[in-house]
Amino acid sequence: MKENIFVTRSAMPPYKEFAEAIKPLWDSRWLTNMGCYHKQLEDQLKDYLKVPGLSLLVNGHMALELAIQAFQFPSGAEVITTPFTFISTTHAIVRNNLQPVFCDVKRTDGTMDESMIEDLITERTVAIVPVHVYGNVCNVDAIQKLADRYGLKVIYDAAHAFGLEDQDRGIGSYGDASVFSFHATKVFHTIEGGAVAFSDPKLYDRLYTLKNFGIQGEELVTGIGANAKMNEFAAIMGLCNLKYLSRTFTERKKRYDFYKMQLKGIQGLRFFERKEGIENNYAYFPILVEDDYGITRDALSDCLRAEGIYARKYFYPLTSDQACFKNKYRKASLNQARTLSQKVLVLPLYEDLNMEQIEHITSIINRYATNGTKIISST
Ligand SMILES: *Cc1c(COP(=O)(O)O)cnc(C)c1O
Repeated sequence: MKENIFVTRSAMPPYKEFAEAIKPLWDSRWLTNMGCYHKQLEDQLKDYLKVPGLSLLVNGHMALELAIQAFQFPSGAEVITTPFTFISTTHAIVRNNLQPVFCDVKRTDGTMDESMIEDLITERTVAIVPVHVYGNVCNVDAIQKLADRYGLKVIYDAAHAFGLEDQDRGIGSYGDASVFSFHATKVFHTIEGGAVAFSDPKLYDRLYTLKNFGIQGEELVTGIGANAKMNEFAAIMGLCNLKYLSRTFTERKKRYDFYKMQLKGIQGLRFFERKEGIENNYAYFPILVEDDYGITRDALSDCLRAEGIYARKYFYPLTSDQACFKNKYRKASLNQARTLSQKVLVLPLYEDLNMEQIEHITSIINRYATNGTKIISST
């Protein structure tokens, strides 16, 4: 039986190395509650990501939820965000009793269209929550300028932007806070995990309290917190994975470049444009299936699936179209976001995906192209 190929496959450190690394826990019995590995990972990630401050959390979603909560916005206030994202972004806003206001994205790279933000600002607006998607970074300068002019906070969903830099600064150093996800499917992971990066040192204490039930002292609870602490096993997985990151990026880049080469010249396939001077983190390989390709995105997805290749329509549907949010919130016309969500397909990309598998995937894509060489499948 042919092996299925999923969109991603978690990177793992050598088993022996991880086993050695977790051994001290059998003596210390300090398994969670901000132990020494939690501290080590916080320090190392702060350096790696080039951010002034960083707090680790149990996952990216709780990091986003608590990052928003840390600013204590008034209930019912409006937050400008985009619907071309993972559902977590919108959930985090709504679960803080805030109203998402949906802004469109740019056709070129899928990030928030900064030219459309101003029209959505009202006296109830308190923050902007933009999303860096597939390693394409938002126009951080334009967004900051608007935020300054209107006194708004900026909290980035940077789950897709691990390790990126813009103008020699860690991407997480922009805005008031940036949230990373270290889920098993992400380019760097701690099994489950996440972090908030920030510049204001007050946020470190606020998040420390919020991720630990709002507890301030042994007998003092000052905030309505959650339990969102990263445990020591997860932190150790992160410390181990961090050592192999440069290899991870190199291996992913090889596969990314090979895809690019194999798919060159196929009519109706488009790629996102990447901002000049920004290194890719090769976290995803999204393609856009345009009208002049031989079949629709959905049909292509089905054809790949029939051969055991699980590409993902990521992000589809728009979060604003999901059953829980449909027609509930204010939005701009979302033409570009809607179009992208109907055309985008994320192809499998991970460190140990082999070149033959990529050849197989791209040969199927070539087969259904208008200008493709109609190879009849041998299977
Ligand atoms: C993965 C992801 C999240 C959520 O992170 P978890 O660690 O899975 O909770 C949020 N936003 C985006 C864009 C993501 O890709």
